[in-house]
Amino acid sequence: MSNPSVENVVIIGTGCAGLTAAIYTGRASLNPLVLEGPLPGGQLTTTSEVENFPGFPHGVDGFQLTQNMREQATRFGTRFEQVMVDKVDFTAMPRKLICGDRTILARSVIIATGASPRMTGVPGEKELYGGKGVTTCATCDGAFYRKMEVAVIGGGDSAAEEALFLTRFASKVYLVHRRDSLRASKIMADRATSHEKIQCVWDSVPVAVEGVEQNAVSGLRIKNVKTGAESVLPVKGIFVAIGHVPNTGPFAPPLEVDEGGYFKPQPGSQVQTNVPGVYVAGDCSDHVYRQAITAAGMGCAAAIEAERWLAEHHGG
Ligand code: NAP
Repeated sequence: MSNPSVENVVIIGTGCAGLTAAIYTGRASLNPLVLEGPLPGGQLTTTSEVENFPGFPHGVDGFQLTQNMREQATRFGTRFEQVMVDKVDFTAMPRKLICGDRTILARSVIIATGASPRMTGVPGEKELYGGKGVTTCATCDGAFYRKMEVAVIGGGDSAAEEALFLTRFASKVYLVHRRDSLRASKIMADRATSHEKIQCVWDSVPVAVEGVEQNAVSGLRIKNVKTGAESVLPVKGIFVAIGHVPNTGPFAPPLEVDEGGYFKPQPGSQVQTNVPGVYVAGDCSDHVYRQAITAAGMGCAAAIEAERWLAEHHGG
């Protein structure tokens, strides 16, 4: 590895997956370069308290958790740069990452760009997102709504699952869906619609999140799409579950994606892509678990694979 202008490993993304990959590759003396995008720290930074990350019996602030990982990665020689990748050329070795007028050369690449929750875009949603009542993760934030009324927006498996999970805490869960039947699988739909704490609000779309002036959600204004009638659900928490958009940006193609647009690892691997030496980790390739700890696990796996690839092909 004599040419200093060629990076051993470039990691794209600074969520749990990217930072864990940085810790592992840094500790393996690979001197990783991490490229960070518009949301340093990833989705965890948009939630307040993380109570389910192992090792923190009293919970940990999401922002603090990623800061800790960042510090740990830095300790092992990780370098960070704020730069967006516009294009890639994975046809030749080293791999090329084109960032504006600069080209970064890399022997191996770990893509951990995450996924962005799809949002409704109604007034108040953005202002009250993250710790103020609007969230996209019941597993992360559900426990903050004990004995309160909440609303889930959506009609797919995620919405049904979120609504069912929230029944453990909330006094009542409104499941607001724009049609009169759920898209969710029959078993999930049956469970949700028959649950005593869940009230389905059919044919309804959100119009506004109320409470911006108080800086905390005080209700969800909805409209019945058949009658045009508007009403307000008296909820303190709103869980938006209308799908995710994986951030596959300039990488697909050439990297393969599945029908949902998520990176598709090779059969038998969680992290290996169709391009040798290029790996994916975290929510950009996982639409099933989407947890900080599973993203971290995939980041670890990608780092170990990259390390092996470099040892085998570049004598590292
Ligand atoms: P999804 O299946 O795409 O469902 C999105 C839901 O949101 C649909 O009901 C859709 O309504 C609604 N929606 C979309 N845009 C909307 C908007 N702008 N306003 C209001 N409603 C809107 O997404 P998902 O539920 O996140 O599931 C994604 C994938 O993961 C699916 O393949 C799912 O089966 C899978 N998944 C599986 C499990 C499980 O097996 N336990 C759990 C979670 C997710 P319409 O129905 O009218 O289109």
